[in-house]
Amino acid sequence: MKFNTSLLHNAKFNGEDRGATLPPLYQVSAFACESAEQLEKVFNNKAAGFSYTRVGNPTVSAFENRIAALEGGIGAVACSSGMAAITAVLLNILRSGDEVLVSTGLFGGTIDLFNDLKAFGITAHFLEAITYENVTAAANENTKAVFTELIGNPKLDVVDLDSVSKACKEKGIPLIVDSTTATPYIINPLKHGADIVVHSSSKYINGGGNSISGVIVDGGKFKWDIKRYPSFEPYAKFGPFAFVSKLRNGLWRNTGGCLSPFNAFMNIVGLETLGLRMERCCGNALKLAEFFESLDNIEVNYPALPSSPYYELTQSELSGKGGAIVTIRAGSKEKAFKLMDSIEFASVATNIGDVRTLVIHPASTIYTHNTEQQRISAGVYDDTIRISVGIEDIDDLIEDFRQAIESL
Ligand SMILES: *Cc1c(COP(=O)(O)O)cnc(C)c1O
Repeated sequence: MKFNTSLLHNAKFNGEDRGATLPPLYQVSAFACESAEQLEKVFNNKAAGFSYTRVGNPTVSAFENRIAALEGGIGAVACSSGMAAITAVLLNILRSGDEVLVSTGLFGGTIDLFNDLKAFGITAHFLEAITYENVTAAANENTKAVFTELIGNPKLDVVDLDSVSKACKEKGIPLIVDSTTATPYIINPLKHGADIVVHSSSKYINGGGNSISGVIVDGGKFKWDIKRYPSFEPYAKFGPFAFVSKLRNGLWRNTGGCLSPFNAFMNIVGLETLGLRMERCCGNALKLAEFFESLDNIEVNYPALPSSPYYELTQSELSGKGGAIVTIRAGSKEKAFKLMDSIEFASVATNIGDVRTLVIHPASTIYTHNTEQQRISAGVYDDTIRISVGIEDIDDLIEDFRQAIESL
């Protein structure tokens, strides 16, 4: 199956669906069993079935199965938000005394999270670039994971997964990739050596800007050496499913960051048009970036532009698709604000991956809790505007940005 076909046919819903074309919405908290004995079996993983939506729900499972199939993973776990998914992945692996190598180009909330994790004895080492050389040089015996975004939001730096995953393999460290901005339309990180993929499915996967959610996909290939990862010992018997079993039976279930069935349903509907939307959004983003590049008073950053330092990698790794985020520098914070306020077809909003174009000034919003140095290392300057390009007609978008820029 090619991509758009697989969005519709990769994971059949195997419930009692009466021929429903979409997995039905099971908007319930609990599932009654025919007997006390049966409920005992379900609770103890001795029988398939559902007991309580925090632990499992058929609509949520249907979403998880579709994402796992789409990413080529052995299992997926859905969460209440992208941040919940990132937190669950990290805490499923790391314990006090552990260290993690992370890129400076991360989403602001994720940088904040690494700050919070210090209180639990987990130390993040920020690398200006996640490369084979940097990972190899920085890894020590306490390094238990590498965490990076594939296309940084909003730095728009691109990671060479084939070489970074080689460094991780040599050091026996799992590579965790936040692929929110790339989406499975552009790349399957698991096929390029990543071990675990996370998405804020609030973004392109949902696509309509109507539900907050996150999802974790495990490739099942990482060998959890129980000497280095002692908390995996009780799960070693699950072989390739050790990571997902540990998550489901432990931290994810007990911290309670489950996905609501309604939001899972909205994601399933959205996911079916991911290919169409991304094709359009990426195409629009490239044309808009080319337009910005033709102007003298605007500096543009987009990985699929030949002027980007990531152009070659975007061609080879991402089949030339640069994603749907473009950043521009307007010259000053005042100019950035004026420009944003003059645009008619872009909402000033903190989100990406909506069908409509959104703009934000990251320095005063998403990165307001970060230090000046963290902001600059994340590619966020005082005059940076992040544009999440939507599906509007490109001529309208270009005309709109042209008049807004001329108003400066
Ligand atoms: C939005 C975003 C997140 C956080 O996801 P939420 O669903 O808002 O919790 C994490 N990583 C990236 C790259 C994002 O864009």
